[in-house]
Amino acid sequence: MPKNSDSSAPLELRDVSFAYENSGGAVARYLFNGLNFAVPAGTSLAIVGPSGSGKSTLLMLCMGLLTATSGEVVVDGVDLAQLSERQRTKLRRQQIGMVFQDGELLPELSPLENVAVPLMLAGEKSSASLAASARALDLVGISSRLHAADTITLSGGERQRVAVARAIVQQPKLLLADEPTGALDGSTRDKVADELFSIPGKTGAALLVVTHDPAIASRATNVLDVGAFIHV
Ligand code: ADP
Repeated sequence: MPKNSDSSAPLELRDVSFAYENSGGAVARYLFNGLNFAVPAGTSLAIVGPSGSGKSTLLMLCMGLLTATSGEVVVDGVDLAQLSERQRTKLRRQQIGMVFQDGELLPELSPLENVAVPLMLAGEKSSASLAASARALDLVGISSRLHAADTITLSGGERQRVAVARAIVQQPKLLLADEPTGALDGSTRDKVADELFSIPGKTGAALLVVTHDPAIASRATNVLDVGAFIHV
């Protein structure tokens, strides 16, 4: 995949504007205008803003599931708009890890198997996939529960740490998390946040976290309030 940027940041947005179109294909309204930021390797950025300010839209732009109306969304040095759909899917699978609010694990599989799934889908041998899975689980401090038969018996916080391990098992350059602690509270929330925010320092990934929670946002290297860019 040709690189068209000298940027070393796993994620960079350059003068990005985005507008949803109405059913006639005309621009309904601009959501962002002039959005510029970079998330360098080994750092984190929290995206905050009120409901409806465009946080989910921004995540979809970073994943290449939506295309910027103008400007560039650059992942691992590549402007996503320059790629074919097939190349974007490949880059997403190989370079972007994703953590959702409710983990979205396969409940009947063990933690070790859940984390190995992306590697097996990518064609890795089972033994290599399980070994990489064990290392990823170790990084989120959950190796003692490795041999649980399924993930139903795990606590919500443990399940979410397994979800973080699954997102990093392919050693992506970019880790995106959508309200990763939104379903947790108290010390469980703090433990998951501890593990999540330790990942950039351990793997060199860039971490982008969408959150409503100021205590979570305050852990990030930088905070961006997308509400400030909204253009109504
Ligand atoms: P947040 O995640 O911060 O709550 P969203 O990115 O979901 O914000 O939405 C931002 C704005 O864009 C909202 O006003 C929402 O109604 C609008 N929006 C979201 N998806 C679409 C869509 N597919 N078509 C048109 N407008 C949309």
